[in-house]
Amino acid sequence: MTPRKSPQAPPHCPNPDCRFHCGDTSSWRWIKNGRFTAGRSGRSTQRYICRDCGRSFSTRTFRSTYWLKRPDIFLRVARGLVSCSGFRQLAAGLGVSPQTVARHAARLGRQSLLFHETMRKKAPVQEPLALDSFVSFTYSQYFPTHFHFPMGRASHFAYGFTESECRRSGTMTRAQRARREFLERTLGRPDPKAREKDVAAILRMVVEGASGLDLATDEDRAYPRAIRRSGIDVRQHTTSSRAARTTRNPLFPVNLMDLQVRHAGANHKRETISFSKTVRSAIERMWLTLAWKNYVKPFSEKTRGATPAQRAALTDRKWTFRQIFRRRRFPERVGLPERWRAHFEGTTPTRVYGSREIRVPRYAY
Ligand SMILES: [Zn+2]
Repeated sequence: MTPRKSPQAPPHCPNPDCRFHCGDTSSWRWIKNGRFTAGRSGRSTQRYICRDCGRSFSTRTFRSTYWLKRPDIFLRVARGLVSCSGFRQLAAGLGVSPQTVARHAARLGRQSLLFHETMRKKAPVQEPLALDSFVSFTYSQYFPTHFHFPMGRASHFAYGFTESECRRSGTMTRAQRARREFLERTLGRPDPKAREKDVAAILRMVVEGASGLDLATDEDRAYPRAIRRSGIDVRQHTTSSRAARTTRNPLFPVNLMDLQVRHAGANHKRETISFSKTVRSAIERMWLTLAWKNYVKPFSEKTRGATPAQRAALTDRKWTFRQIFRRRRFPERVGLPERWRAHFEGTTPTRVYGSREIRVPRYAY
């Protein structure tokens, strides 16, 4: 009795605990439950009830702007965030509060992650990889975060990332050293093996199933340890980080990614005041940047070729943010590895906030 072919028909039950949330929904039944008008558009929306679990929902439930009061600015926030705007600048330009921009940014990051995982799963890695860690900081320079990226050497596709909280290193004045001691005494010290463990984790997630792949890295000693820990069969080649950073350098894709992330994201500029205040928001913004680099941006700005995702044979077309965020994706339907589940749920802690950090409410993805 339920018509299922109409383009407006709900695709599945939005309740993750309902048996018609994932998998085969051909026998799913719902009933129409009136219409309502809400939001600024003044358009009326169809409401439904799931016949199986009783969950009420509407056509809006399946939009990526679900629950947002200003769906009209969603794509503008996305474009702003990859064009080097800070939350405050964007908010001022759009006439909304910085908190509104932050909420949109979080949603964009989570939906980017789900989109990427849907695409990435289409085929195993079949090209040599380059791996490097992108270093930025959150909250203050005493809290560096490393983002580990395996990238396709031929496609320049970024397969994903994990992050590690690290100890501040490098040259410090006596006062800075004392401040670091104080912070470490009160907040604890980051795990010295974090990088090794987190690189191993991303390798397992991305390279799983493939064997004998080539992996280019610099001479950082954490990488061979991470490879051993991962149990993944890869052939590592090292290139000195002092080698000329030309296109011939096997690490070119990661050097370029580093440059693009810093160029596109205001939060990763050197000597900036728009740095991310939490690791969680840095992660979400990184996912948006990754989606933009992989699926939207041509491989070369000069020749306007295919995107990295096209070159990695994961899609046959260029995507726009409008297409990527047309419909809402659900984590249970996509199926995320555990590490990325934490990215999605926003549970990665920021050391300086401890348990005071505010968690994202579950409905708000
Ligand atoms: Zn249901």
